[in-house]
Amino acid sequence: MTTATVKAYGATASTEVLKPLDIQRRAAGADDIKIDISYCGVCHSDIHTVRDDWKGSTYPVVPGHEIIGRVVEVGDNVNSHKIGDLVGVGCMVDSCQTCSSCEQNLEQFCEKGATFTYNSKDKHIEGSQTYGGYSTSVVVDEKFVLRIPENLDEAATAPLLCAGVTTWSPLRHWKVKKGDKVGVIGLGGLGHMGVKFANALGAHVVMITTSPEKGKDAKRLGAHEVLVSKDQDDMKKHQGSFDFILNTIPVGHEMDPYLGLLKIDATMVLVGAVEPLKPFHGGSVIMGRKRIAGSLIGGIKETQEMLDFCGEHNITSDIELIDMQDINTAYERVTSNDVKYRFVIDIKSLK
Ligand code: NAP
Ligand code: ZN
Repeated sequence: MTTATVKAYGATASTEVLKPLDIQRRAAGADDIKIDISYCGVCHSDIHTVRDDWKGSTYPVVPGHEIIGRVVEVGDNVNSHKIGDLVGVGCMVDSCQTCSSCEQNLEQFCEKGATFTYNSKDKHIEGSQTYGGYSTSVVVDEKFVLRIPENLDEAATAPLLCAGVTTWSPLRHWKVKKGDKVGVIGLGGLGHMGVKFANALGAHVVMITTSPEKGKDAKRLGAHEVLVSKDQDDMKKHQGSFDFILNTIPVGHEMDPYLGLLKIDATMVLVGAVEPLKPFHGGSVIMGRKRIAGSLIGGIKETQEMLDFCGEHNITSDIELIDMQDINTAYERVTSNDVKYRFVIDIKSLK
């Protein structure tokens, strides 16, 4: 396998900050597309992986799964994209394509294990693992390369590849519709996209936040109401009134107060806390036949549908553009809840 050295940024241990690294990328094969990366979003999952919060990180970790760039090379069998096209890569770069999950366009649940964009075993380079978008270029199987609507701002489109599809997918799966009262918990990268999408789908959107100072922004982003979760009276007022809640809190937390907000038969979907949750009271779901569910990103077909919807409705992320060299400060700001509302790296700064 021929490889090329590519500039990247990554961490060599969970206790280390990110620094410049050289990584190896394979040469484009017959089914591959080589992408010159222009922008990459900074997801809270990047930080969880770098810091080994979920255990199972293998170093070096080169994060980044909100990748935008232009096609610079295509393999002989590729017909979905051509040189010069604006394209994106999200959280996955491969899957078996034959199991029942893959056949249902749910590659994220591939029974043989999807290959994630970073920190997965690399099928192409023996003994190596996948490296993400904090780098100047990437080579990806064409089936995992998304078409990006050209009318959208390029940098602000990057977060759609993870934050976008992760919030879009549960809203669609649970069939959120016009008039539903939808709560979005946590106004960060995922949450601000959840608010935009729920609004675009016609729901009555309530931003549920721990940060009262974000209220004004929440309304600008599309929330009709703001509920401060630390305010007991406010929580009581909304008791038993939600049709659907999307919960993006990135750590384990008390569930009972949020379950109390659901109507009979309503569902709260967790996307953030990939870790043990605090015990919750059985009565919180028994009384009212309520449901707690989870959701993981979205399949490739669904990601393309979300991107096309964004193109038609002019939806992108609200971003703060940073240089690659500012990444460690950005990580500190995300974990101290100071991001409005997604950092995106200008990869020019790495070239
Ligand atoms: P983020 O930008 O840091 O946003 C998280 C928001 O949650 C914060 O802005 C804050 O909003 C709220 N929050 C933070 N700590 C909290 C606490 N202890 N209690 C209550 N609320 C808290 O993170 P993100 O990039 O949106 O990612 C959110 C989570 O989803 C991360 O854990 C990430 O790894 C995960 N994720 C999952 C998937 C999936 O497929 N399931 C995909 C991508 C990311 P307020 O200030 O408004 O309270
Ligand atoms: Zn992500």
